[in-house]
Amino acid sequence: MDSPNTLILDHYFPSDVLKITEVIETDKIIIHMKSLSRTCVCPRCHQTLKHYHGTYTRKVQDLPILGKNVQLRIKAHEYICDNEACPVRTVAETFDGFLNANRRMTQRCEDFICMLAMETSCEGCARICQAMNLHISGDTEELFTVGIYKQQERFKADINNKQKKCIGSRSLYDRF
Ligand SMILES: [Zn+2]
Repeated sequence: MDSPNTLILDHYFPSDVLKITEVIETDKIIIHMKSLSRTCVCPRCHQTLKHYHGTYTRKVQDLPILGKNVQLRIKAHEYICDNEACPVRTVAETFDGFLNANRRMTQRCEDFICMLAMETSCEGCARICQAMNLHISGDTEELFTVGIYKQQERFKADINNKQKKCIGSRSLYDRF
């Protein structure tokens, strides 16, 4: 019987491609999931790959739940590109819009940090993330750069439109 206080985590993930296999709660929440894919597309030659090569585990951070840090452990698939004209041999699948290649955070997690950096400052963003148990690391420098870039574009757009309204903190403006 469904409990009224059960949170259905599947609703928060792309359940057509990822299946939750286990959730472990300690001082953080670790969600184990496995890929359901049977094919992927080669990023170089764009052929659909069906030749399964192996499984590897990706360790990824997602947005915190109720103040607890959330880690995903995703068993993702690798496929072989059989196209002899293509220089790529194996392809690690990505989950478009959810988790991109070589990233250690979900897209929504990156978007949140990026927005926070845009609306406050890099230092303010780092402090807020720490308070939320959202761990930021080396990758985050890049996110801050993206955030500042977007801020800059918005600032320019506002100037062009002669809308001199406040869109963020002075510390970001000062960098332009
Ligand atoms: Zn290929």
